Amino acid sequence: MNPTGNLHDRAAAALRRCGASAPALDGAHTVTSPIDGSELARLHPARAADVDATVAAASAAFGHWRQVPAPMRGRLVRRLGDLLGEHKSDLAELVTLEAGKIPSEALGEVQEMIDICEFAVGLSRQLYGRTMPSERPGHRLMETWHPLGVVAVISAFNFPVAVWSWNTAIALVCGDPVVWKPSEKTPLTALACHALLERAAGDVGAPAGLHHVLVGDAAVGEALVDDPRVALVSATGSIRMGRIVAPRVAARFGRCLLELGGNNGAIVGPSADLDLAVRAVVFAAAGTAGQRCTTLRRLIAHRSVVDELTERIAKAYSGLRVGDPFDDGVLVGPLIDGRAHAAMRTALERAELDGGILVTGGDAVEVPGDGVYVRPAVVRMPAQTDVVREETFAPILYVLTYDGFDEAIALHNGVPQGLSSSIFTTDQREAERFLAASDCGIANVNIGTSGAEIGGAFGGEKETGGGRESGSDSWKAYMRRATNTINYSDDLPLAQGVEFG
Ligand code: NAD
Repeated sequence: MNPTGNLHDRAAAALRRCGASAPALDGAHTVTSPIDGSELARLHPARAADVDATVAAASAAFGHWRQVPAPMRGRLVRRLGDLLGEHKSDLAELVTLEAGKIPSEALGEVQEMIDICEFAVGLSRQLYGRTMPSERPGHRLMETWHPLGVVAVISAFNFPVAVWSWNTAIALVCGDPVVWKPSEKTPLTALACHALLERAAGDVGAPAGLHHVLVGDAAVGEALVDDPRVALVSATGSIRMGRIVAPRVAARFGRCLLELGGNNGAIVGPSADLDLAVRAVVFAAAGTAGQRCTTLRRLIAHRSVVDELTERIAKAYSGLRVGDPFDDGVLVGPLIDGRAHAAMRTALERAELDGGILVTGGDAVEVPGDGVYVRPAVVRMPAQTDVVREETFAPILYVLTYDGFDEAIALHNGVPQGLSSSIFTTDQREAERFLAASDCGIANVNIGTSGAEIGGAFGGEKETGGGRESGSDSWKAYMRRATNTINYSDDLPLAQGVEFG
């Protein structure tokens, strides 16, 4: 039993407050809390027939929703944003129970949902196309954007609700229904969000069937991936998952938006403000117990600062409280499960074999119950070996040393992933050179790699998958573009001056 109370009861109460029914306890899909390993629910997973019927219902809803003007579609998302705000603490409670995030980070994740709803409401009046000059007299050339179709959202455990909201708020204003396959580890937050969206739809008179949740594992995801009625598969998770999903969607010429693993690096130059760098590095590397796609995993520090920097980070790590996320003062909650712990141990062993020196952490922390807790680790590495080039989804920060800036960039870009990156420097030239050279989708100056705002496009290059979601013009992935040529003359001039008859 967890000292903070019966977690199942807490989850059931939060779900009820969100308008969802109490979680089933007699299904085949067991949901446990990483806090103490206790059972939260036994849900009934979707079967193949459920996937088929769900996609059919979403396709039918598309026929209605696409006819609703975008600013009217925005009303649904505005109402959803209001309800998310009203139930912020309930949703955050579920995020902590299912994903183990500390309450402040869980609340931050829900705030991100509210923010993206605001963004999407504004967007609903700004789905702009361009008008281009036509080469022909009496002609107009323009592009128009149209709803795409059913969007399947496949999400990861570590951002159980934010990723859904980035996709769903935008998809809905773009005219697309959503079928959500949440992580098998965090389906309760999905059921709560679904209940709130259903309520919002009822409140604004939106058509039924715009949103669906399918509980299940990879097999349910694959059924969605293969369904030709699904126009866009937006899949967030490991590179391993992306390697399976991408070719299957491509085989049916569907659209894919991939948000896969990262292996994020930060360069600390000789002129860096080390006070600021240490604070940023500690949050980026140890926050969320190292389980963010944008977690800082590689610190590339100039030889003149590397010793002091490492020492100061280690000192800051020694003050991080690890434990039950509901306990006051705890900053590092549990790993998601024992597999994550095994992966961390293996990575640390490999790093040691490669000549790495453990500076701090890496050991397990005993906490009542069956949760898995570790002290975040810092390892000095003599080189960027294979283990450093892989994403281990746990709090390990590898520290590498460089002498010249080109060497730092080569180390930084010398990994297969390309999600987030940072430089700490007070040298403007160095900062600009870094922004031009980083091969990541996100490149920052004097802030850490994690904690992006919703206003920008989020995503990464190389094996991170190339997708962009959330702000800026990411909405274009959720619509189809048509180029229109209109002849308002009495003549029929052909393009490129072609004569025919
Ligand atoms: P995961 O790949 O194990 O699972 C992610 C989702 O994909 C789950 O819903 C899972 O059921 C589904 N899935 C797995 N195999 C599938 C298949 N063959 N077909 C269809 N669906 C399948 O990832 P995880 O452990 O939940 O999350 C951690 C990973 O996600 C890390 O690699 C992290 O970097 C990445 N991540 C990336 C981003 C990003 O925006 N780039 C955000 C969050 C997490």
